[in-house]
Parts: sequence; C-alpha cells; structure tokens
Amino acid sequence: MTSKPGLTSPTASVHAFTLTALLTASAAVTADEHPRYPNSVTGTYHMVSSAHPLASQAGVEILQAGGTAMDAAVAVQLMLNLVEPESSGIGGGAFMLFWDQSEKKLVTYDGREKAPASATPEYFLKDDGNPMKWSEAVPGGLSVGVPGTLKLLETAHADHGIKPWASLFESAIKQAESGFEISDKLSASIKGAAERGLTLFEPTRAYFFNEDGSARAAGSTLKNPAFASTLRVLADQGSAPFYSGELAEDIVATVTGASTNPGQMTLEDLAKYEVIKREPVCFPYRVYEVCGMGPPTSGGLTMGQILGVLSHYDLRSMGPSAEAWHLFIEAAKLAYADRGMYMADSDFVDMPEGLLNKSYLTDRAALIDPQKTMGKAQAGTPPWKEAKLRAPDLQPERAGTSHFSIIDRYGNMVSITTTIESGFGSRLMAGGFLLNNELTDFSFRPEKDGKPVANRVEGNKRPRSSMSPTIVMKDGRPILLTGSPGGSRIINYVTQSVVAILDWDMDPQDALNMGHVVNRNGKTDLEEGTEAVELQSALESMGHEVNVRSLNSGLHTILIDGARYYGASDPRRSGIAIGE
Ligand code: GLU
Repeated sequence: MTSKPGLTSPTASVHAFTLTALLTASAAVTADEHPRYPNSVTGTYHMVSSAHPLASQAGVEILQAGGTAMDAAVAVQLMLNLVEPESSGIGGGAFMLFWDQSEKKLVTYDGREKAPASATPEYFLKDDGNPMKWSEAVPGGLSVGVPGTLKLLETAHADHGIKPWASLFESAIKQAESGFEISDKLSASIKGAAERGLTLFEPTRAYFFNEDGSARAAGSTLKNPAFASTLRVLADQGSAPFYSGELAEDIVATVTGASTNPGQMTLEDLAKYEVIKREPVCFPYRVYEVCGMGPPTSGGLTMGQILGVLSHYDLRSMGPSAEAWHLFIEAAKLAYADRGMYMADSDFVDMPEGLLNKSYLTDRAALIDPQKTMGKAQAGTPPWKEAKLRAPDLQPERAGTSHFSIIDRYGNMVSITTTIESGFGSRLMAGGFLLNNELTDFSFRPEKDGKPVANRVEGNKRPRSSMSPTIVMKDGRPILLTGSPGGSRIINYVTQSVVAILDWDMDPQDALNMGHVVNRNGKTDLEEGTEAVELQSALESMGHEVNVRSLNSGLHTILIDGARYYGASDPRRSGIAIGE
C-alpha cells in the first residue's frame, strides 16, 4: 500500500469503522496469491465499490443472492441515502451507465432533477436585477429541483432487475429502524454545515443535532424511523406515492412552505417527471473507447475533449511527470472553456455537434505549447449546424455527491453518480430524506452582453451537471468503471483516474490515492498533503498559477483484467470495495 502524508490508506479508513464482520469479509476476499494489482481488492465473481461499507455490503448481499448489478444498485443507493445522507438519495438526481451483458449494450439513464414548469431565466435574480449569492440561494425551497433518483432506480430496475423491488429495500429499512453509526465524514459534514443553514429547518435540525444544539458525534447511533416508513411505502407501492401521492404532497408542502426561499414546485411538476434513456457519449482514446453520459451533464463531452487533446501526446512514456501534468492542465483548460460556452441541457439549447470532432480537437491540441502555459483558454468554434452566439458561464459548484460501481456474476455492470448537489442539499427534509439544491447548478445570470447563457434557468429544463459516470471499453467489452463526486472538479478527477490506470498502468487503488492536479480554466489546484505539491515549482516555471488546497474526490473504481476484478475506494471518503 502506498502511503503519503495527509491521506489515510483505504485500510485505515475502513478501520475507522467498527464493522468487524465486514472487515473480516473484505479481508478474506482480498486474499489472492498473485494479484496483478496487490493494493486493490480482488474478485472474480462480483464486486461493489461505494462510499460506505454498509452500502457496499447491502449491494454484495443482493449479488450473493443472485441479483443483478441493477438490483444491487437499488440496495446500495437506499443504504447510501440513510448512512451518507448529506451526499445522495431519493430527494436528488443521478446519471447511470448500465452495461447489459446479454445484449452487449451500454445504456444510460438520465435521472437529473428538473426546474419547475413555471421557472423563468430570472429565477435567481433579485428585485434589483442582480443574481442572488450562491450561498443565499441554497437553503430552502427555491433551489429544489424535481427529484429523479427514485424514478431512475424504478425504471432501470424494470429493465434490468430480477429480484422483487420490495426485497431491495429490506436492508435499508432494517438499518433505519435499528440505527447506524455516524461516520467521521458525516459528523464533520454536520459540523461544517451548522453555520450554513443546517439548523434553519426543524426536521433537519432535530435529525442532525442533539437537543443541546451540538452536532451528532461520530460513532453515535442514529435511527431514522421517518425514512423507514417512507421506504416501506415505496417498497410496497413503487414510486407512485412519491410522484403523485402522499409523499408528493409532503415534498410540495415542504418546498413551497419553506420559511426561507419558498419554492414553486407543484404536484404537476412531480407527476410529470420522466427519466430519459439516452445514448452514451463514446469516444476513442488510444486503444480504448471511453463512454460517458451526455447532456444535461457536461461530464462525458468535457472528458472526451480532454482525452481527445491528450491523445496527441505520448503520456504513457512521460509518466506522471510535470511535463505530462502540464499537458493535462492545458487540455483541461481548453475543454472547460468550451464547457462554459456551449454545454447545457441539449433538450433546451442547441449545442455544437462537433465538440468531439477529431479535426476540431487536433486544432485545439495545436494551441498547446509543451513548455509554457497558454494562460486562460478561449472557447473554440466547433462545427455547428447553425452558429449561435453564446456567453460564457462560470457558475461554481460545491461537493456533496456519491459515485458507486458494481459488477454482477452475469457480467452486467453499473457506473452511477448520484447527488443532492451540495452537502445536505437544500437543508429541507421530507419523509426522512433530504431534498436537493440542484437548481443552483444553473447559471444565475441568464445573459451577458446581450447574449444568452446556455445553462440559464428555463421551465422543465435540467441544470447542467459535471457528473461523469464512466465505462471504458476495449474490443467491445468494458474494462474500467469509474466516477466521482466533486462539483465541477469531477471531470478532472475522473479523467485523472482513467489516465493513471490505463496510461500509467497504476494499481487502481494507487491511482485513487495519488494526489490530484485540477484545472478548470483558471488557477491550477494541487492537492495539499500529497506528492502533487512537489509539482509546484516545475509548473510555476511554465507560467502556471498554482493553489495548494484540499481536493475532496470520492472515486469508486473497478478495473476488469480478464476474469479478475480489481476494486478501489477513495481514501478521502469512508468507502470500501468488496469483491468475491
Ligand atoms: N451538482 C453537481 C453536478 O451535478 C455535483 C456536486 C458534487 O459533486 O458535489 O455536477
């Protein structure tokens, strides 16, 4: 196991939990005489990697009982909703890639939240015409998008599940009733959010804080009877009560009745919510085909642009050197410039067709000087059907999301990134779960210099995301599942995991332990307490402005090497990969 200052190894982060049985199970399955990647968890039968041991375990139990990756995904998501409530759940949205082994086909599900039908581009403008501050807009009903995660699970389960829907709820219901141990991450997140709206609304305050006002401590037990009864209703009746029944009424009352920033979601908005099956965005990268999610997330296209530009250089022979990172940074700048200018919900705005066009990306790569930074990158002019004038959008995004990856015994695979946007979403709770603040992923400014921003708010539109659930293929078969939380840094984290594992042949766990280097077309972030900081002077001598800071990814990755699976979990979170 590689170790470095500032990051605990995955083993250490697992030991932070007193989950003896789980540890024994994972230790047993990691025993492997000649693993190619000794620092990752190995398996040949099935595997789950997620941000919490109880969630990975819930998924593995379904797989052991013969369930598919999709069945397991339902159990993992519901357990994450309970034990990592600040990050994802049925009050939020998700994007999922599903590899269907029998059809040899990759499908994607868009369960992104959408704006209420009545929303207009002025949604986040104050009376004086100026946009609200991001932190002002988050708490309360205004930021809540119509949730999609539950409908996504139900739709994809109908397509790819074999276990009864209700059976997938059992472990989360049991755990909600008996209580779960608060993780270090959850307790630190509660403390961090105490001053940022988490005490504003009563059910949320009572759930996350003790009666004396102190934050609930790591290691203490938390029960969630309200969530258990919500889950019982949904287990029995499917998603209907959530989208048009008693839960729908509770959600709408909570959103519209919020004492701060009341929102305008209606019962009709919920009743009309639809999950959209979309074609994956796939692009060649060396001997691979990298497949991701298309709009409304910018994830797949931006990763495609970065890797498309990088494919003009021999990163493999450079290794993780300053020379290689310089190219990575420059490619990221170019891609983020296009992202800000063009990418949004393509059901609402025209986007250039040529964002991944080979000759366009060759032209973009030619803008890079291997010795010196270009400074701020400008958006390019990719091929369109019809050119449109656009203004750039620089909306910030904050951490509060989860990614998990699953392989079942039949060879089906799930790569899903799931979110309630920032930690604790809108801070509003209904039915024992948190409601998202995803609408703050829209651009608050609808236009600039008279030109419309592609990601402006519109009724029923889905806010642009950065989530990048990814499946890399080789010779028509999946070989890598990866993805991460991290706001708009997600694209850098996930691209780095692909380059580290496939170009630099790193053990997947070492790749996730490696310090991050991030650029979103501004300063370069180097992850504090890691070897990435050692790049500072070399990068500065090439003209880069550098920030050293904490970078909170949550990669959960599985590499498929012939008949063997190698699972890795991000040491910056509390998760675990379990394989058998
Ligand atoms: N809301 C963000 C997005 O959809 C994700 C937030 C996060 O990862 O923290 O891109």
